[in-house]
Amino acid sequence: MISRAPSQHIDSYYAATAIGLKDYAPLAGDVSCDVCIIGGGFTGLSSAIHLAERGYDVKLVEAERISWGASGRNGGQLSTGQRKDVIELEKIVGREDAKFLWELAEEAKATVRGRIASHNIACDLKPGVLTVAYKRRENAYFERYVDVLKKRYDYPHVRVISGDEVAGTLGTNVYYGGILDSGAGHLHPLNYALGLARAADEAGAQLFENSRAKRIQKVSNGSDVCLEHGNVHARYVVLGCNAYLGRLEPRISGKIMPINNFMLATEPLGENKARSLIRDDVAVQDTKFVIDYYRLSADHRLLFGGGENYTGRFPSDMKRFVRKYMLRVYPQLADTRVDYAWGGTLAVTMNRLPTFGRLEGDVYYAQGYSGSGVALASMGGKLIAEAIAGTAERFDVFSRIPQRTFPGGTLLRWPGLVLGMLYYTLRDKL
Ligand SMILES: Cc1cc2nc3c(=O)[nH]c(=O)nc-3n(C[C@H](O)[C@H](O)[C@H](O)COP(=O)(O)OP(=O)(O)OC[C@H]3O[C@@H](n4cnc5c(N)ncnc54)[C@H](O)[C@@H]3O)c2cc1C
Repeated sequence: MISRAPSQHIDSYYAATAIGLKDYAPLAGDVSCDVCIIGGGFTGLSSAIHLAERGYDVKLVEAERISWGASGRNGGQLSTGQRKDVIELEKIVGREDAKFLWELAEEAKATVRGRIASHNIACDLKPGVLTVAYKRRENAYFERYVDVLKKRYDYPHVRVISGDEVAGTLGTNVYYGGILDSGAGHLHPLNYALGLARAADEAGAQLFENSRAKRIQKVSNGSDVCLEHGNVHARYVVLGCNAYLGRLEPRISGKIMPINNFMLATEPLGENKARSLIRDDVAVQDTKFVIDYYRLSADHRLLFGGGENYTGRFPSDMKRFVRKYMLRVYPQLADTRVDYAWGGTLAVTMNRLPTFGRLEGDVYYAQGYSGSGVALASMGGKLIAEAIAGTAERFDVFSRIPQRTFPGGTLLRWPGLVLGMLYYTLRDKL
């Protein structure tokens, strides 16, 4: 029925260790339903579960494979808060909304943990994220930030640690200090997503792969989602395409900027060597504009993310591209084999807060998690389901956050932004 070879997951450590991969047939013919969800990542899958559990007739169409996009390729950090920390957030939206967004982000982590527990999703969930200072002056900010979190946000799970303690924990002396957040965590993102897909299926949602939405057309009583070999008439449409949105919905594509980010997985290191790199098995991220982030896999590899680009293409030799970032932190891995390297595309917004909203024809969207989508996209799906079911207060807090469109709009947003990104990348090096 499909006119090209069925899509496969990219060659990554995650795909090689995927649990419960299942083929879902493409959608063909004319069908109707209450909600058509476009995109099978965390946003789409989480919307599907929450809507199906509320009794909606749900069809989810994914252009490639379930979780083929960023959700199946990312660093796996289950982060605390929004992409902007609360001190910055208060300046953007005021204290009251900052508190509200903080609480939603706490609920997001709890929602992820709750789904993993209730659906028995085997995805190597572990506690702890260590943020490390790349510049000495950041230590003073760390002290202030932890103080604000404890006193104003009632969050006791963070503590500042010294440069010496970081060095003792991480087996590298490139950092000046850190914040350990034991309320955050990390997981195998593709296995988490595949578990969500199973949960959506069990809740009664119908999932379709190799089913690209080509057009959304407003019709009476909803929208038609036109596919290559079929058409879905739906009362509501959910857009969960994030950085892979392309030209499907020009009204929202200018609100996000797609960015390619890259990861590698070393060969298995053995438990002792792996623990000499990250003693406490936490996830690590630094404070650079283009961050390095890394953690250990269940089979004792180092999974290292570093480097990004802003073009339509990935570097031709991704192992070499990411390895240079890894060796700056861990020169002792110079002789270690790199087994996998891959890239994915995430979406950032101008202010690094996600953008949610609804368009004419009852089309709902949530996108632009700016690198914090494991928790926040899972929450995005939950809030969309709430809004469709008639309780939109929480969804609307996001939809009223002012979001600027990238200069140049949909097609011309690249040159200025790329220059800006390169400027900040250069600052990392100073
Ligand atoms: C390398 C990398 C590292 C990251 N690290 C982290 C991290 O450690 N922690 C964190 O919280 N976040 C991280 N992120 C961000 C996180 O992965 C994303 O925010 C999140 O996965 C977004 O989920 P989503 O469902 O909105 O989009 P995606 O997972 O990208 O899913 C969108 C889906 O829509 C499909 N689609 C697009 N167009 C169509 C169409 N026309 N018809 C049908 N389907 C369509 C795509 O094929 C894709 O599968 C990272 C991202 C990358 C790329």
